[in-house]
Parts: sequence; C-alpha cells; structure tokens
Amino acid sequence: MRNVLVVISGPSGVGKGTLVDLLLQEDAGLVKSVSCTTRAPREGERDGVSYYFITPQEFRSRIAENDFLEYDEHFGNFYGTPRSFVERQLRAHSVILEIDVVGALNAKRLMPRDTVLIMVAPPSQEELEARLAVRGSESDEERAARLRRVKYELDQAPLYDYVVVNDDLQRTKAEILSIIRKEKEKIV
Ligand code: 5GP
Repeated sequence: MRNVLVVISGPSGVGKGTLVDLLLQEDAGLVKSVSCTTRAPREGERDGVSYYFITPQEFRSRIAENDFLEYDEHFGNFYGTPRSFVERQLRAHSVILEIDVVGALNAKRLMPRDTVLIMVAPPSQEELEARLAVRGSESDEERAARLRRVKYELDQAPLYDYVVVNDDLQRTKAEILSIIRKEKEKIV
C-alpha cells in the first residue's frame, strides 16, 4: 500500500478539526502535519499541537528558506505547511493536512500523485452559522469575513477528489476513513 497526503478542507466551523482528531485516534498509520501560523492562539490551543505559533518575521524568513510546502494568507495572518515534516513522514506514513482551498490546490499541484483532496461541507449554511456563533472565539467582524469565505470555499468543491457532508461526526469519520483506505490501495 502507498502513503498518501490527505488534505482536509472546508469552511471555518464545519468540524474539520474535530474530524481530524477522530481520524488520528482511529487510524494509527496517519500522522498530522501541524501548520505554522502568525495568528494568535485561541483559548485552549497549544503551541505545537494546534499550530506552531510564530512571528511574522520568523514566517518571512522561513518562506525565504523555502521551508513551506505551501503557504497562504487568511484574514490578515499567514499559515504554512512545513515541507520537511511532510516529506519525511510520507516515507513511512500517510499524512493529513487541514488547510484551505488555495493551499490544498497548491499541494495537489506540487504532489499530484500523492495528494487526495477531501472537502468537508456543512449540511446547510444555517447550521454552519449556528456553529460559528456557538464557538464565539471571533469578533462579529471576523465571523462575517469567515462566513463570506464559506461560499467561496464551497464553490471550489468540483476541484476536489471527494466531498463529504458532515451531517454526523461518526458517520463522516467512517466515510473519510474508507476513502483513505481505498486511496492507499490504488496503484498510481
Ligand atoms: P483558523 O484560523 O480558523 O485556524 O484557520 C483559518 C484557515 O487557514 C482555515 O481555512 C485553515 O484550513 C487554513 N489553514 C490552516 N493551516 C494552513 C496551512 O498550513 N496552509 C494553508 N494554506 N491554510 C491553512
């Protein structure tokens, strides 16, 4: 079986983070790549677990050193995937990335044979708005910007390999696991 780079994308608040945690608990062969970001940690987020929280200056120097497989700016902050970690881990494991649409398409362009793009979609826009309101970690303005981004992200679904609707976490987790198993068995 081959190792694959599984990219999970989807609008903010759709449950990607929870799904990735469930997938990691379920499949011991999967390793998560922790991204670097210049945004401030949210409550409960730990450095090196949710993200590596670094300064804009450090981010810029890592760009200059070609340290990111891909990177992008969202809502005024930078986010990037550490290249060496992904390349090293892929020799022994499948790697999971939780990144946005632009980053996902860049990863696919850079590693077309290894990359499997999975879009997690909400059952409805109303449900997503409710989830973001409950999370309450952003200001109204930030939340509005994230909601505008939702439509854009979902419009990119045709460019993905798979779209899964997160109507139920356990069901969605099982669907993603079966996609990963199938992709690992593919001969490319
Ligand atoms: P948040 O601030 O809500 O954690 O993330 C904001 C957006 O950045 C999300 O769409 C998330 O998927 C994306 N993101 C997180 N890490 C990366 C990364 O390494 N690269 C790119 N391109 N996007 C990322």
